[in-house]
Amino acid sequence: MFKKILIANRGEIACRVAATARRLGIQTVAVYSDADAQAKHVAACDEAVHIGGSAPKDSYLRWERILQAAQQTGAQAIHPGYGFLSENEDFANACQAAGLVFIGPPASAIRAMGLKAESKQLMEKAGVPLVPGYHGADQDPALLQREADRMGYPVLIKASAGGGGKGMRLVEHSQDFAAALASCQREAINSFGNDAVLVEKYVLRPRHIEIQVFGDTQGNCVYLFERDCSVQRRHQKVLEEAPAPGMTAALRQKMGNAAVAAAKAVNYVGAGTVEFIVEQPGGYDQPDAMQFYFMEMNTRLQVEHPVTEAITGEDLVEWQLRVAAGQALPKQQSELKIIGHAIEARICAENPDNGFLPATGTLQVYRKPACSSFSISDVRVDDGVREGDAISPFYDSMIAKLIVRGDTREQALARLDTALAHTQIVGLATNVQFLRHVVKSNAFAQAKLDTALIEREKAALFDQTALPLPLAAAVAVAHQLQAEQALQGHDPFSRRDGWQPHATVQRGFEWLHGSATVSAVLTYGRHGALQLQVTEGGNTTRGDLQWRAATDNACGGLQVMFADERTSAHVHVAGDARHIFTPRGAVMLELQDPLAHAGEGHSEGGRLTAPMPGKVVSFAVQAGDTVTKGQPLAVMEAMKMEHTIAAPADGVVQELLYAPGDQVTEGAELIRIEATAAA
Ligand code: ADP
Ligand code: ADP
Ligand code: MG
Repeated sequence: MFKKILIANRGEIACRVAATARRLGIQTVAVYSDADAQAKHVAACDEAVHIGGSAPKDSYLRWERILQAAQQTGAQAIHPGYGFLSENEDFANACQAAGLVFIGPPASAIRAMGLKAESKQLMEKAGVPLVPGYHGADQDPALLQREADRMGYPVLIKASAGGGGKGMRLVEHSQDFAAALASCQREAINSFGNDAVLVEKYVLRPRHIEIQVFGDTQGNCVYLFERDCSVQRRHQKVLEEAPAPGMTAALRQKMGNAAVAAAKAVNYVGAGTVEFIVEQPGGYDQPDAMQFYFMEMNTRLQVEHPVTEAITGEDLVEWQLRVAAGQALPKQQSELKIIGHAIEARICAENPDNGFLPATGTLQVYRKPACSSFSISDVRVDDGVREGDAISPFYDSMIAKLIVRGDTREQALARLDTALAHTQIVGLATNVQFLRHVVKSNAFAQAKLDTALIEREKAALFDQTALPLPLAAAVAVAHQLQAEQALQGHDPFSRRDGWQPHATVQRGFEWLHGSATVSAVLTYGRHGALQLQVTEGGNTTRGDLQWRAATDNACGGLQVMFADERTSAHVHVAGDARHIFTPRGAVMLELQDPLAHAGEGHSEGGRLTAPMPGKVVSFAVQAGDTVTKGQPLAVMEAMKMEHTIAAPADGVVQELLYAPGDQVTEGAELIRIEATAAA
């Protein structure tokens, strides 16, 4: 076994690999960029080497520098994690040339599976079922259009070199094909440096079911069952679970064997995932009618590998290290068993209610489910950040992965909901509340899974507030009283909270929830009794307010009772914001200072600013152009996604303030527009 390895990655996966290495007594070397000088993965390793600037191309993708770091620290092998260099055959070759072991498959297997089109040709020969489509070398647009017309719409155009949900276009009608092809090729050349595409039949209501495979240098290859990753947004995974609901032993074996055949066709060694798209013509509960087709093989450890670890009890990173060191697979097929059910949720810095726009910022508060009043067994948090760390625009938006295990799916779901309820993040937008809505949706609970679940259930998933606002307001008031009491101490003569023995005193509060106003009047009665009246959206709720500090758990917090409802709660203050977390849900109320309105004006039509930090991809206009409200003006890219910036009003473009390729901060002025005077 190796004595020392270098981990050529960052974030949660670098921490994950380091944890297993430590357990096995293997020393670890981290590499880090400028932005990651203080990162958790650096602290998680025994040594660390600075490899350059914050942008991936200046650090985590600089493989000569990484090889040099390995040699200077005496590392024997390099673990690439996922993303970055993990599927780069040149890097795998360079490791070998430098006398280092690449902890991954042979370069030839990476190459064979690297391009979706070529890998499909190989799989066809190996007898693995494929989605009907065209994956030939001839890229003549007229030919591609004819192929699409022949297979019938809808079709999916995919960048052959694509990944991470990027470089795909759904085309529903023949007349839209040419434009979609051009836009797909543009994105493909920009993101992957290769504009080759394939066209395939768009499977309706499909499931994404993938098989974890493992090979060793002795020619053994096994499958560690499936993961269902059907819950997606923008073709990217949101929730992953194992086993796949409704899977039968027969189908599992068929898919497992097909995945092993795929791996063997490229002499696969190490951890890999064969992704299948599964058609369910008989509906959700007819597994016998399910048809599976090869989509692609990911020649690396997958983000969602922990669910497989949870149901098999195996440590896949340990398997990777053993196989890379030349050992045989720790287990044979017949020794592998599924025990229970596991689900992973990807917690991301993003705003689900605003098109999943990525968010950046500082994790002012970052509390994990471990710190909860009741212990939740079988909960695992994989992350690469700590409270106080920044989520920067340089890397992807995943903050943490929450993985839970249960004896049954129902139990795993309930635990996931509890774990999400105990995840408190302040400082940037996250999808935590959104994930809770997904987990609790009927479709997900009943395992009616397909890749359109989020779109189909959107009415119940977006813009939802699970915590009633009157109760949230009561929590905010209780928190305010607690803070004042802590300031004043318990001396009744110095109390400023309005309490007086023989008088009734009232106090008003006002907050904003989104753009809606929530107001409250607190009335101090005799003997410390409190009455609260909350008004929001024209509704008024009245009742007694009682509160006390929660002393029965390690994490503090409040117990609040208002109008016959009782809840435990945590409140985090950030400026005027009151971030309220309860088991039922979380909301943010912004305390209104009446004076704050004084200087408020209207944002002028002349400023068009970046809605998030990111890179300017292209401009659709130039100086002098007349534009109309809603017209696309520019494309920005942030954290694996493209966003179109539209004109806020009619006007004339005065100046473009950045060039394509420029990195801009949130709020930076992109384009100066002179608004056309309103008639
Ligand atoms: P999974 O492991 O679940 O298949 P993805 O395919 O979304 O996950 O990719 C895993 C990680 O690899 C992502 O978080 C991303 O950082 C990185 N990644 C994958 N493909 C690409 C790509 N083509 N360009 C940039 N990053 C990628
Ligand atoms: P990536 O390399 O970006 O992961 P994949 O080929 O694995 O690309 O596809 C990503 C997702 O796109 C799948 O999980 C699935 O939701 C959807 N998808 C891919 N191919 C098809 C298809 N032929 N029909 C319907 N959906 C598809
Ligand atoms: Mg994929």
